[in-house]
Amino acid sequence: MKTFIYPGSFDPVTNGHMDIIERASKICDKLFVAVLISHSKQPLFSMEERVSLLKRAVSHCDNVEVECFSGLLVDYVAQKNAKVIIKGLRAVSDFEYELQMALLNQKMAPDIETLFMMSNINYSFLSSSMVKELAKYGGNIKGLVPECIEEDVLRKFKK
Ligand code: ADP
Repeated sequence: MKTFIYPGSFDPVTNGHMDIIERASKICDKLFVAVLISHSKQPLFSMEERVSLLKRAVSHCDNVEVECFSGLLVDYVAQKNAKVIIKGLRAVSDFEYELQMALLNQKMAPDIETLFMMSNINYSFLSSSMVKELAKYGGNIKGLVPECIEEDVLRKFKK
């Protein structure tokens, strides 16, 4: 069984993430979207909120499951019996950091591969931080996040 792991902060999930999830889920048997519990990054949405928004957004994808993890990604991947980490690449700016992470993970776990998927051209400018910045100042986030979570993102800034 081909199991892929797609890790990230997903603070919150965007249509750029959704594009990677939908494309990756077509070339594996099972895709785990893994929400990182980070103690250094201070997310806007709690881990429970990020997982819940993602679960709603992927409810139409039969072979996709949402989980959270802490600690080393390679340990989580091994625990899931997976061999592949999926990452999305937007622009050259993503490359250096992603290369460093992929090489580090390769050193720690040589049998685990990191596969990169090029972002859809329509979402190559899109990041969770951009969505948060827009929502904060009352900008339009339609088409940037899954429709079913739009209200939740806007509500976060109304409080
Ligand atoms: P962000 O950079 O938006 O905060 P994450 O840390 O949640 O995103 O990223 C998780 C993964 O999704 C990373 O591999 C990242 O490169 C990828 N990703 C994020 N936004 C996009 C996008 N618009 N298109 C393709 N991949 C993306």
